[in-house]
Amino acid sequence: MIYNEDFETLPREVLETLQLKRLKQVVERVYHTVGFYRRAFDQAGVQPDDITSLADLRKFPFTTKQDLRDNYPFGMFAVPMSSVVRLHASSGTTGRATVVGYTKRDIDTWSELMARCLVAAGLTKNDIIHNAYGYGLFTGGLGVHYGAEKLGASVIPISGGNTKRQIMILQDFGPTAICCTPSYALNLAEQGKEMGVDMKTLKLRTGIFGAEPWSEKMRVEIENTMGLTALNIYGLSEIMGPGVAMECTEERHGMHIFEDHFLVEVINPQTGEILPPGEEGELVFTTITKEAFPLIRYRTRDISRLLPAPCRCGRTHARMDRITGRSDDMLIIRGVNVFPSQIEAVLVGCEGVEPHYQIIVDRVGNLDTLEIQVEVSEKLFANADEVKVLQNTERRIIKDIKDYLGISAKVKLVEPKSLQRFEGKASRVQDRRQI
Ligand code: ADP
Ligand code: ZN
Repeated sequence: MIYNEDFETLPREVLETLQLKRLKQVVERVYHTVGFYRRAFDQAGVQPDDITSLADLRKFPFTTKQDLRDNYPFGMFAVPMSSVVRLHASSGTTGRATVVGYTKRDIDTWSELMARCLVAAGLTKNDIIHNAYGYGLFTGGLGVHYGAEKLGASVIPISGGNTKRQIMILQDFGPTAICCTPSYALNLAEQGKEMGVDMKTLKLRTGIFGAEPWSEKMRVEIENTMGLTALNIYGLSEIMGPGVAMECTEERHGMHIFEDHFLVEVINPQTGEILPPGEEGELVFTTITKEAFPLIRYRTRDISRLLPAPCRCGRTHARMDRITGRSDDMLIIRGVNVFPSQIEAVLVGCEGVEPHYQIIVDRVGNLDTLEIQVEVSEKLFANADEVKVLQNTERRIIKDIKDYLGISAKVKLVEPKSLQRFEGKASRVQDRRQI
């Protein structure tokens, strides 16, 4: 099913004509309303009427997270506060949070795009949606909420936390879909098990997970423990919030980017050079319909690639692959680039351990050290007097990390349930190096 057939299946040439028209409008508008853009364009020697084709966008300068921080809190707004009906902020995962604003029309657009996502996940107005993304300044909760209402589904605004109560609600209200971070889904499944609830017997059949990187193996793990189909959703507050891109149930491979509202480029993060479709690099978005907080060529620092092949669901919007990580979470360990998601991909699904882990990077003398703490399963723990079993598990993980990532790690198996659990975005890396 497609929520907005007209726009989601536009033939490429028509889509591009629409994009160009919208791009011209937004560039013109920010030049006259946002001091930052006037200065940036003047400095780069470009004018709004330099846009005569979509390819001309590359002449324009990037906008970075630092630019948003420099203009904290409202310096990048393109409308007066009297036209702003909502404020949100990024979670601040990687530093000072950035503040974003929405006009009434921006909220309508966002709601529609979120409704498109829910429909891409196979939901209809007959679904009951358990929305465990945090409500508040974080965009996850309210973003999904408005989309669900727009679709006409019934939404349970449970937000994050109070996990035991969530299990009760899941049993009593019988939601058919759940939205939260993948790490919170694991947390819920574990809590359910502790309370003697078999998650597979619940009515949940669809999970929409995002807001943090997760691996394909984690998808399988969550699907198996919760008995549902897990889909990936992508978004970031600077560009809108959740609903910038979404997987479809038909393909479940790559997320369609709503290209009638956002232009996407993939660049080499070191040189800024635009990469051909299919190559991995940093995602750069330009919003072409936003009123309150339009951004031109925003560098997300998220690493992914475009999947140019057409999709059998009928949507013509390009797909982006799973995010491998953020350029600022990339760890350089003894010269090797490692994303936490690659370590996750090795651990999850590994027999005898649970998908709960912590990565600790340190430096001893001049040498970087990598320690991976991972919880053993209850079953293995019960047999722990068989030291050999533990040793073998440890050795196997060390070997897999070496084989897949090319680095040596110290692996520490820890007791079940001893590592931290998360309600929103997981934080699994401790970098103790003082560089
Ligand atoms: P913050 O940058 O402070 O975490 P947000 O709360 O706006 O700000 O979160 C947006 C970020 O979350 C994205 O830039 C991306 O790094 C991450 N993210 C969102 N959805 C996904 C997803 N499906 N897979 C991986 N990472 C994601
Ligand atoms: Zn599709």
